[in-house]
Formats: sequence, C-alpha cells, structure tokens
Amino acid sequence: MEDHWRYNIYAREDENSQFEHVGWIDFYKTTPPGCDFCNEAGDAACEECIDNNNILPETNLVEVPVGTDGMDPCADHTLLGGITIIKYNSLINYNFILNACYNTELQRWWFSIEGNALEFKYVLEYCDQNITNKGVTLIDDYENFPQGYGCDLILRDIQAQYIYGNLPPAGGYVLKSMLEAHELKHYLDFAVTLDVDKEELFQNLLEIAPSCEDFNTKEQATTFWIINFSPLLYAYWDQAIAEREKYSKGKGYEEQTHWKSRRNFTQIKINALCFWNCTSLLSPLITCP
Ligand SMILES: [Zn+2]
Repeated sequence: MEDHWRYNIYAREDENSQFEHVGWIDFYKTTPPGCDFCNEAGDAACEECIDNNNILPETNLVEVPVGTDGMDPCADHTLLGGITIIKYNSLINYNFILNACYNTELQRWWFSIEGNALEFKYVLEYCDQNITNKGVTLIDDYENFPQGYGCDLILRDIQAQYIYGNLPPAGGYVLKSMLEAHELKHYLDFAVTLDVDKEELFQNLLEIAPSCEDFNTKEQATTFWIINFSPLLYAYWDQAIAEREKYSKGKGYEEQTHWKSRRNFTQIKINALCFWNCTSLLSPLITCP
C-alpha cells in the first residue's frame, strides 16, 4: 500500500450537466494511536527491526573439528565412504539475548537477537581406518597417484568410486576429493532444507506476532517473544534435522546424491587423465588444457 493516496471527487449540478472535478480527499498512512514506538527518539532497538534483512536471524552452518559433540565418522565401523553429521544439540541451551522492537514494515511487534546468527555445527568427513582396512590407500586428489601407476589403473580406481558404496580392489587408490564431492552434495541439500524450513518458521512467527495494540511497552513485547520464540525455533531445528535423517537413512537418497555428484567425478577423471598423459583413454570430444 502506498503511504499516501488521493480520492478525487466529481459532481454535477443535475443529471443533464457534465461531471466536474470539485475537490479531493487525501489519505495518509499513519501509525494507530499508542503505536508510535519507533518515533521515540533514540530507540535503537526499534531501528534494528526496521531493516527487512534483519527480520530473522541468519542461520549459519559451522564446520567443527572431528569429535566435537561426539561427531566422529569412525564411530560407525562399516562406513566405506564419507559422512556428513549435523548437530545442534549443544544449542538447546543457547543463551540468546532477545530484544523486542516494533517493525514498521510488518506492522507487528518483532524482535532482534544479539549476535544475530543461529549456528548448526557439522562435520563433513570420512573414517580413514574404515577405508584403508580394505587394503586401499587414501590419496588427496588425482595428482597423488604414484609415479608409473598406469593409465588403466588410474581409470579403474576412479571409476570404482562412481558406484555408491564401492571401493577399488585391494592395492588401489581412493581419492578423498571424490568422497568430499558426495558429502558436499549432502551439505548443500541441508542448506536448502534450512532455507525452505526457515520460510515456514517466518510464517509461524508472523501468525503469532502481536500487533501494536496488544502491548503498550517494549518490555511486555520482549517477554512475549522470549516465551514464544524458542519453541518455534527449536521446532524449526528439529524439523530440519528430521528431514535430513529421513533422507540419509534411505539408500535411494544416497544413490541419488552420488548420481548428482557425477559431474564433479567426471571433472576429476578428466583432470587425472590429462595430468597423467592418459589422453588415449579420453573421449575425442575432450581436449586437455
Ligand atoms: Zn551420503
């Protein structure tokens, strides 16, 4: 809605005469009485909420060292590939400072959070032992095959990793870069889930957000949000994690994730064959740099 709009008034003397413009009425958007919180000079907390980019705290995915909060890929001895573990358990008692403020865009009591970021911790890793136990050697990337290993073997090892849950035969080499490409897809999927669910969180918050008539003071509004924000926030986290776990349990989802990593795998394969002068194994469509 515009901040200002005008109704023009037309009238005629009788039914046989022309309509003439006789005047207008101007309407201005104003704050209802008692709702002028943000007009108070120097009210910094109100200012924070006016910025629409600040409507919800940012959600950050923070990579933490292996072992943090028990996030250890070696805990499962059957894992032949990588694993993406995401947790927020330690945030249950996350002590955020919440300030209510009147958001003039939303026309609702809203809030800001000090620090303005919510954090999910994650570990994106694989268990070296589980893999090397199978008689293969882990290498960082395609440049790290040993000298004189042979083009056929390089291709064999890389193609073995195209198949989900598969390793090259004993004596072969496993590329960490390929394990990471798969895990990165999981990570990106989760980031999308978080965004989609966040939109739902926003709608849920908006549904209960008090209007200016509901509270007279910022303190009352702050108390309201302290009580009501946390349960919705935790529901949001739970939902995102539950969706992640539902997917990760399905073999279909894993295979799909692996399939979606093929583009990265193929790039690694091309790089390897070019790097090791194995161009005869490349498709004639590809030219090495
Ligand atoms: Zn996976």
